Amino acid sequence: MSYVIVLDPGHGGDQDGGTYGPYVEQNLNLAVAKAMKEYLDNFEGVTVYITRDSNQPMTIQERLDFAKAVNADYFISLHFNLSSFHTLYGSEVWIPAQQSYYNKMYPFADIVMKNFDEMGLFNRGIKTRIGKTGDNYYGVLRIGTNYGIPSCIIEHCHMDNARDTFAIPASQSAALNASLVNFGIKDGEAMAKFLKLKSSKLGIDYSSYQLSSYKTKKSMVTPDETEPEVNEISLVSVDASAGKVTINMHAVDKDSYILYYMVSIDGGLTFAPLQDWPRTSWNKSLTDNVITIDVPANKELNIITGAVNSFDKIALSNVLNVKALSLTIDNKPVGENKVEDITVNSIIEDTTDTMAFNTITYDHLINEPGDEQVQYAGSVSLFCSSAVLLLIAMLFAYNKFFKKSGRKKK
Ligand SMILES: [Zn+2]
Repeated sequence: MSYVIVLDPGHGGDQDGGTYGPYVEQNLNLAVAKAMKEYLDNFEGVTVYITRDSNQPMTIQERLDFAKAVNADYFISLHFNLSSFHTLYGSEVWIPAQQSYYNKMYPFADIVMKNFDEMGLFNRGIKTRIGKTGDNYYGVLRIGTNYGIPSCIIEHCHMDNARDTFAIPASQSAALNASLVNFGIKDGEAMAKFLKLKSSKLGIDYSSYQLSSYKTKKSMVTPDETEPEVNEISLVSVDASAGKVTINMHAVDKDSYILYYMVSIDGGLTFAPLQDWPRTSWNKSLTDNVITIDVPANKELNIITGAVNSFDKIALSNVLNVKALSLTIDNKPVGENKVEDITVNSIIEDTTDTMAFNTITYDHLINEPGDEQVQYAGSVSLFCSSAVLLLIAMLFAYNKFFKKSGRKKK
């Protein structure tokens, strides 16, 4: 058995893809692709092509036409990511939604993601994305599937978030290059394992490599279009002397899983950076997360959280109102409030209709020609519009209050 693999460094020429600080995505993609090809060329039973070997421009159609012309068995598009407000972090793999292609690509994507895990990168998942026509949103996956070529897009990590950039240190070009070569080797190793290849040159034999057990899909795999169904917070404890409030955040997304959470103590005006939501495996999130928050003294708190699912959709929680913690630096309570006086009002008690709205904080921000341009009219982005968010939260709370008083009148 001999395989033909086409590696595709995303973007090229006048299309840089994402750019941030020292990073120009098309260059990163090219370095990874070259290293991946060089590594895979050591193996028997595989012929590896690259769609572009310099920074020349190329359309998605041309890339897939090339793959078709060389009878590619697999088409692997290599990318780096960024988000509109530099809030997101982690690695992900996009694969076709059509089940037979999904089932072909999933075991490969799974090995790629395991490598990222081992490198300390956050796993954003193996996902599909559907455009307006009901077909794959990404041109590479759509045309690849039409041509009968299983394809995927690897988003290695985010270039604009310190949580990820340790993996692509840019202080020296040699260090950056070494990290890109490392990514290429790891991706190549994933492919060699997936295809159970052997290299006498490297003394490697993956012929008995065991792919993870995986339940094949029997129908089209559609993405989760809705925000998490539940996000409720409750007070666990207050440690006034230490200036800490501990809450329990209960969040559920029945269609997918919770990826990140974020906390605000000013009612949603500002949020601390996203944090990892606890998961037992990348696609299974826990339902509860006990969070201890450092809070300022003598300030009334309106704690609100956001639960973000694997498709970056957010559900906001109820608001916990905690009266000012009376703290001094020598730990003696001053002022009018004592710890016992702290009251917690759940302004929004009914979370069955948890307020939520779509975000498009990212999602492969940089579209390429051939990707469907999906308009998200009226959607709210995460961090740019925290004032809007506060307004919405206030209106929502106000509305709830009204509904409640209405009920009381009955
Ligand atoms: Zn890209």
